[in-house]
Amino acid sequence: MPCTDDSPERIAAEARRALEICNACQYCNGYCALFRALKSRRQVGRADMLFLANLCHSCRSCYHACQYAPPHAFAVNLPKSLSLVRQDSYRDHAWPPVLRGRLRYSGRAVVVAALLAVAGLSLAAFLAVPPETLFGQHAGPGAFYRVVPWEIMAGLAGIAMLWSLLAIGFSVAAFWRSMGPAPANVPLLPVLRETLRDAATLRNLGGGGAGCDGRDGGLSQARRRCHHALFYGVALCFTATGVATLYDHLLGWQAPYPLFSLPVLLGSLGGAGMIAGTTGLALLKRRADPGPVAASVTGADYALLVLLFLTAASGFALLGLRDTAAMGPALLVHLGIVLGLFATLPYGKFLHAPFRVAALLRAAMERQAEARDRPRA
Ligand code: SF4
Ligand code: SF4
Repeated sequence: MPCTDDSPERIAAEARRALEICNACQYCNGYCALFRALKSRRQVGRADMLFLANLCHSCRSCYHACQYAPPHAFAVNLPKSLSLVRQDSYRDHAWPPVLRGRLRYSGRAVVVAALLAVAGLSLAAFLAVPPETLFGQHAGPGAFYRVVPWEIMAGLAGIAMLWSLLAIGFSVAAFWRSMGPAPANVPLLPVLRETLRDAATLRNLGGGGAGCDGRDGGLSQARRRCHHALFYGVALCFTATGVATLYDHLLGWQAPYPLFSLPVLLGSLGGAGMIAGTTGLALLKRRADPGPVAASVTGADYALLVLLFLTAASGFALLGLRDTAAMGPALLVHLGIVLGLFATLPYGKFLHAPFRVAALLRAAMERQAEARDRPRA
């Protein structure tokens, strides 16, 4: 197969070259978990590269510290090389397997899928729901279900969420196998504790403690904070949905709920976190030094941020309009965006979250195995 500039072979060869130079240099040891994991490898095979690429959190500190970065003849650009390997790893582990090697991670496809979901749902509602109901004012428990019956709303959301969870689960399982055999007989509790700590604090996005490098070379924890706001915002929104489901099924209390009820408070807090996180990340991305960034991955990055922002913003719009005649259209738009989000999660940038957790788990297992096998003094 000919090697074009962005061919998987060329991408893998460039990443391997950079990792081998880093392994000889070792100046950045201590910046993140990648360098410790790299040190224990004499050679970097395909399985190692998949593991290491997903262990990198793209803080870019090693690029700005690197004496071999461009314009040096070695032109080492580890964050950029690894981001391209990561992007290929999402495509090569997609589920169902028929999609492997075929997906193109363009942001446009994600946005088009979300727009199609909104348009399809709106069209179905225009055809099936009388205009006086669709554009009518509804109040009290069950108001949403007068526009979109509960069975349809729960069925569509349930199918989309189940598909998404299955596809992500199978993709992560395939990725786990691709990293090669995991160390055996390591103590489970310390491994889980380390993985949860690393994932929850995003320690590796801290550039060794001082933070990520910005365009001017200044260090800051801004990207880490924005990731936290987004992650915990999404988690709170899922919790709000779970609480609302319990209210409905166990207590028979139907949505919409009062402003100071638990689902609305959790959802509002989560939505605010999502808006703050996505806006902050998009602004930081616009201002970032383009040197360590691969242009071909930024479209998918922005698409996920836009979709998450729209999910939260349309949720707030629904909250603000729920007592007015605009509730029906606002509900359709919010539901359509949520369906579009779930449909595209397993096939876009979102995979970096579960793949990174899997890589962090593998790194914690390796560290525990290393500590166990180290000769005692
Ligand atoms: S990024 Fe540059 S300075 Fe850091 S370990 Fe690699 S080669 Fe050395
Ligand atoms: S996490 Fe940061 S320091 Fe570590 S390899 Fe990635 S860009 Fe470099």
